Amino acid sequence: MSLTIPKHKNLRTQEHKNVVVRFAPSPTGYLHIGGLRTALYNYLFAKHNKGKFLLRIEDTDRTRYVEGAVEKLVETLKWCGLECDENPVIQSERLDIYKEHVEQLLKNDHAYRCFCTPERLDEMRKTQSAKKQPLKYDSHCKNISKEESEKLSKEKSFTVRMKIPPEEIIFNDIIRDEVKFHGSLIDDQIILKSDGYPTYHLANVVDDHLMGITHVIRGEEWLSSTPKHIILYRYFGWEPPKFAHLPLLLNPDKSKLSKRQGDVAVEDYREKGYLPSALLNYIALLGWSTEDSQQIFESNELIEKFTLERCGKSASIFDTQKLLWMNGEYLRKMPIDELTDRAIPFINKAGLKADIEFLKKCISLEQEKIKLLSDVPKRIDFFLKNDIIYDDKAVAKVLRKDGVEKILTDISKVYEKIGNFTADNIEAETRKYAEANGLKTSKIFHPVRITVSGRTEGPSLFHMIELLGKEKTITRIKNVINKLIC
Ligand code: GLU
Repeated sequence: MSLTIPKHKNLRTQEHKNVVVRFAPSPTGYLHIGGLRTALYNYLFAKHNKGKFLLRIEDTDRTRYVEGAVEKLVETLKWCGLECDENPVIQSERLDIYKEHVEQLLKNDHAYRCFCTPERLDEMRKTQSAKKQPLKYDSHCKNISKEESEKLSKEKSFTVRMKIPPEEIIFNDIIRDEVKFHGSLIDDQIILKSDGYPTYHLANVVDDHLMGITHVIRGEEWLSSTPKHIILYRYFGWEPPKFAHLPLLLNPDKSKLSKRQGDVAVEDYREKGYLPSALLNYIALLGWSTEDSQQIFESNELIEKFTLERCGKSASIFDTQKLLWMNGEYLRKMPIDELTDRAIPFINKAGLKADIEFLKKCISLEQEKIKLLSDVPKRIDFFLKNDIIYDDKAVAKVLRKDGVEKILTDISKVYEKIGNFTADNIEAETRKYAEANGLKTSKIFHPVRITVSGRTEGPSLFHMIELLGKEKTITRIKNVINKLIC
């Protein structure tokens, strides 16, 4: 016999109506990049189909409880703009509901109490291992009579296991098409732990049903849980939702995306100065694409274009270099007012202060080159600080060269005389001086740049000098002559 869900022939092209989806993370203290992709696809699918996007906190594993994790998660999702349509459902607040459902399964003989001690289970596994048998619960408590089980439950600690029928379970996945598992290879899953908390499988199915979830969109690592869920749906007499399992995310070396190989916490990307829009744009492309392989999406365009039907089956590589490039693209296009607003927390953190209008001018000179918001302070600090730090190599190689002292002395006099200290006038006078003295412009531009900014590269030289102002420019030139060259 096999347990088969009726086939939706054109699952990939059908219209999705009254969509209700959920993101159901277990709070670990941070939002994993893979979790963000799941949340995003659920969100986009809901919004594209004018449905609802809900949040459920799956916190029934008390051994993994992390203080403040839920608040942090909600905050990070909000920062990403993935706000849910209703208050989050918190599983640890719903224990009675799960217990009722476990009772129902016990009553209908779809589940049984297991009184095996951890030691016995350990022994069992060791023996199976030694005999090279599959590690599987040996059904030791399956045939205890109901009366005996009731009686023992008053005396002993127990778990509850669901019965897995030894039959083929077939279901259709929107992304993976037909998927088959055989019940004989699946353990009788624990659905209620001895501490009275349900396990993932039970709570997940009960809540998906009670929350009216129409589509379960989650990572491929949950694919092997799905047959167990389908059995539970059948035991409860409920119609299962449609499933879509998203392919894995990998590191560039094709290993599973994990903390060991760099940052996987969305919070780390936020701290480094990635924009939520760029992060979402990049993440959206890890498993989904448009027909024309569009890379950059305007706001709302992802919602308009996203379909599960265009999600692929193969794993995607999480490439931080491409993400960095994309962030730069977004930063370059951002209106300067917004860019400045977003950069201010990073500027403050670096201990820098300035008037906002001045900041805007500094940032706009560097906008082309900024790839991360956290780059901003180090790119503009020479505008804001009085004491700038000179690179030793540049001082030795450029400023201490013969003739440079004279050039700088002359240039400071030239600049002194400029009435209207604009980039155009500064450039014209600098070039005039070069010509009059038979000097290549680079012989002047390079030392002047280092003198006024402390660095060898940066924004357009004359715009930079204009923004710095006459007084500061001349003071810097004089300081360099007096303190660094002599
Ligand atoms: N709590 C699971 C997780 O952490 C949810 C999996 C599912 O969506 O069913 O990803």
